[in-house]
Amino acid sequence: MAAHGIRQREEGVMMLPIVEFQDVSKVFFKGATPIQALGRLNLEVREGELLAVVGPSGCGKSTLLNMTAGLMEPGTGAIRYKGQVVAGANTEVAYLTQKDNLLPWRTVEQNVRLPLEMGDHRFLPEKEKGARVARYIGMVGLAGFEHHYPKELSGGMRKRAQLARSLVYEPDTLLMDEPFGALDAQLKLMLQAELLKTWEGSGKTLILVTHDLTEAISLADRVIVMSGRPGKITAIADINLPRPRDVFQIRFQPQFGTYFEELWAALRTNMAEGEEIH
Ligand code: ADP
Ligand code: MG
Repeated sequence: MAAHGIRQREEGVMMLPIVEFQDVSKVFFKGATPIQALGRLNLEVREGELLAVVGPSGCGKSTLLNMTAGLMEPGTGAIRYKGQVVAGANTEVAYLTQKDNLLPWRTVEQNVRLPLEMGDHRFLPEKEKGARVARYIGMVGLAGFEHHYPKELSGGMRKRAQLARSLVYEPDTLLMDEPFGALDAQLKLMLQAELLKTWEGSGKTLILVTHDLTEAISLADRVIVMSGRPGKITAIADINLPRPRDVFQIRFQPQFGTYFEELWAALRTNMAEGEEIH
């Protein structure tokens, strides 16, 4: 089945955006010194799309996700989720944060199960909870490690446990902040493939922050490039590569190179302004 975002484009159906950023800016203070993290940003995230966000370090990518999850308020402007202004924790999104936040006193299985102990998920039958936990642990390749504690796992395995924990919730929208950043190339490709397999045809909206342009183009329906601080959108590209995609092969398509050149030019301009990409 084709992904939701693709169907929309083919049929030309306009749908309400699932997330809207309207004139959003954010200033932080380092002591008395203001740091303008985000400039005025306007963006509509389409329901069912996989949107990748790339940009230099410190341009406000994590801040954008924090605000979408309702963990941080915008300085100016508003963020709407399904038409409602986000005020307080947005429980309709799952958030895979950049920082490792597995609970050290819980095993892999207990960590992955955590979202099913909260909100309406508490009322799922135990059998369903168990089946979901096992399914997502298997999907990220951690079968056999259910009873290990985070400190007994490698960095990559901890990331995979976090990934399983964000998927087990089966939310309408997923926010992922550099989920594969620290992983070796081979594992990264394997998890990207798993993520695509899970997402394609699911109808879910996924906002993926990444510093890896190849990853962004391989996976996304749309890529946005942000400038260095204060973060603003400097380029947006629709990635019209066919689905389902094979992450191992897609980079060899001629059209992939065209997207890469176009977006890399936008990123490079940002670097010239004195920020680093990593
Ligand atoms: P990115 O994820 O793109 O690397 P962030 O959103 O983490 O960028 O941060 C954007 C800028 O805002 C950075 O300069 C960062 O130091 C600053 N910043 C982020 N969160 C806070 C905070 N809670 N307090 C103070 N400064 C912050
Ligand atoms: Mg970040």
